[in-house]
Amino acid sequence: MPIQILQPEVAAKIAAGEVVERPANAAKELIENSLDAGATEIRVEIREGGRRLLRVTDNGHGIPADEAELAFQRHATSKLHTAEDLSHIATFGFRGEALYSIAAVSHVTLTTRHRDEPFGVQVRVEGGQIVGRGRAGSPVGTVVSVEHLFYNVPARQKFLRKAATEAGHIANLVQRYALAHPDRRFSLVNDGRLVFQSNGNGDPFDVLAKVYGLENARQMVSLLPGDGTSPPGLDVAQDVSFMAEELPGAEAAGANPEESPVRVTGYTSLPSLTRANRSHIDIFVNRRYVEDRSLVHAVVQAYHTLLPVGRYPLAVIFVEVAPELVDVNVHPQKTQVRFVEERRIFSAVQKATRQAILRHAAPPDLALPS
Ligand code: ADP
Ligand code: MG
Repeated sequence: MPIQILQPEVAAKIAAGEVVERPANAAKELIENSLDAGATEIRVEIREGGRRLLRVTDNGHGIPADEAELAFQRHATSKLHTAEDLSHIATFGFRGEALYSIAAVSHVTLTTRHRDEPFGVQVRVEGGQIVGRGRAGSPVGTVVSVEHLFYNVPARQKFLRKAATEAGHIANLVQRYALAHPDRRFSLVNDGRLVFQSNGNGDPFDVLAKVYGLENARQMVSLLPGDGTSPPGLDVAQDVSFMAEELPGAEAAGANPEESPVRVTGYTSLPSLTRANRSHIDIFVNRRYVEDRSLVHAVVQAYHTLLPVGRYPLAVIFVEVAPELVDVNVHPQKTQVRFVEERRIFSAVQKATRQAILRHAAPPDLALPS
C-alpha cells in the first residue's frame, strides 16, 4: 500500500485505544478533569460496569459556552500552552486528548455551565461527530455522560470483563482518588445504588476508614508524626540514618539543602495487617495515582523482616515533589512517571514508611519477653 495519512476517524480510534482500554480509564480521565476544574463534589455513576453508562458530574468551574465543542478536538486543552509548560505540569490533564478519545468510541453528552456565564450548554457527540448542541439549564459545573463505550470498536469489546469486574476497577479508582483528595467529596453510584461516598471534610483518616473499614484503618499508621504540618522532607531526611544503614538498598537521604524537598505522607499498615499481594500498596505522586513498581518495592522493603514471607502491607503513599522533578509525559494514560532523582525518592519513601512502622510497632525481638 502507498503511504497515506490516516482518515481522522481511524486516527481517533487509534488514539482512543491508547487512552481508554476499559471503562475505568475513561472514568479516570473524567475525574481528573473534574479535579482540574476545582470541583469539590464529584459524582460517578455507572451502569453495566460503565459500558452502558459512565457519567461524571462535578461542581467545578465549568467550560465557557463557546469552548464546549472545542473541548472535543484533539490536542485541545486549557492547561498547557507552550512546550516549556511541559516541564512543570501542575494539572492532571495536559494532553488535550481525553474527551476527544472517549468521544471517538462512544456517545458523549457534555452539559456544562461556566461559573461566569448565565446559562449552560449541551453538546452531543457520537463516534467523534458532533450531533447536537444547544443551551441547557444547568448549575455551574460539568456533567459528562458516556454511553455505549466501544460501541464501534468490536475488538476492544471482546477484551472487556464482566460488568462486575469493570465496576470493581472503577470502584478502586474512585476510592484511590478519594484517598488522595480527602477535601473533595466523591461518590459512586453503581446501577442506581450508592456504593461509596467520602465526606470531603479533609480528614484523610475518615476516607481510609471508608475504604478499608474502621478496623483496618485503625491498624494503619500515619507517615508523618503529629499534625502532618512539618516542613516538607524534614521528617524523612532527619534522624533516620541509622535505618539507612541497616536496610538493603537504602542510601543516605539527600541532605543537600539545595535539593528540592521530597515530602512523603500517607498511611501504612502495622505488621498485624497484611495482604497476600502488593495490590493494596497505592502510590501517588503529587496526588496523581501512579503505577510505580519501584516505589511499591520501597514500601515493601521498609518492612524488612517484619512481615512473613509472601505477605504485604496495605499502604497509601503520597509523594510530593516539585513538578520540575517528575515527568508525567511518558504514556498517554499518565500512570507512569519518571523522576529526575529516582534513588532519592525511593529512599525517602522507604524511610518514611519504616519510620512510621517503627514508631508504632516495636520490633518483634523487643516486644516479646525473652
Ligand atoms: P486535558 O484535560 O488534557 O486538557 P481533555 O480532553 O480531558 O484534555 O479536556 C479538554 C478540555 O476541556 C480541558 O483542558 C478543559 O478546559 C475542558 N474540560 C474537560 N472536562 C472539564 C470539566 N469537568 N470541567 C471543566 N473543564 C473541563
Ligand atoms: Mg483531561
